[in-house]
Amino acid sequence: MSKNLRYMILLLILLFVAVNEAVIKMRSTSWERPLRVHIYAISGDARAASEAWVDALTTEHFKPIETFMSREAKRYGVAIQPVRVEYHGRLESHPPQPPSGSSVLENIGWSLRFRAWAWYRGWTTDNDHSDVELFVSYYDTATSTSLRHSVGLEGGLIGIINAFADKTYRGSNQVVIIHELMHTLGATDKYGQANMPEYPRGYAEPYRIPLYPQRMAEIMGGRIPLSAQLSKMPENPGEVVVGAYTAAEINWPVEGR
Ligand SMILES: [Zn+2]
Repeated sequence: MSKNLRYMILLLILLFVAVNEAVIKMRSTSWERPLRVHIYAISGDARAASEAWVDALTTEHFKPIETFMSREAKRYGVAIQPVRVEYHGRLESHPPQPPSGSSVLENIGWSLRFRAWAWYRGWTTDNDHSDVELFVSYYDTATSTSLRHSVGLEGGLIGIINAFADKTYRGSNQVVIIHELMHTLGATDKYGQANMPEYPRGYAEPYRIPLYPQRMAEIMGGRIPLSAQLSKMPENPGEVVVGAYTAAEINWPVEGR
């Protein structure tokens, strides 16, 4: 094959992916019907604690995600239930883990492998239609003290979440899942150095007087600012809101707010 023809084909594939994802993005944030969010669990380290944790999961476990989205959408005047969350059981195959470094090429390579993995999985195993697929890998807290980061792919409408297989982390796991779900819908991070939320975009109540301590976290700001230098992780979705900047990114009406 000539070099030009190969470039042509590659360009066409990239164009197809770009157009396809733009259409998906438009459809996924039109909020005309609830988005179907399917969650799959994976035992990340195959340890007894993770296995038992994954085996005990039900749709009920992930309900707070749906409740959070409904509560916040309503505040912005979205008339419908925005997402319907369903747990679709455990998977034995593992999605490719995101690279630990920040190399752009490695990240692009990984995001394509992840898309291919998710597409192949859906094609070979179930016919259930979903809008967003989230894959949650659970790790035993006895051997894992920190986790690789979680990533939600915008346009791809898929996310990988690394979580702890322990009830103390139940609420914070849910917050991480919601954060990645928001990424898949087009929301961007609103935190900077030392994981401090950016002012005002990453604050739940940017106009509160006095400003500190804040009482809640903005979902993409990630943490609750206690002072200009200190912040803490929210313990559950009850301590989190969707701020106006994030709402605008996912097409919730923010006019007059
Ligand atoms: Zn993020």
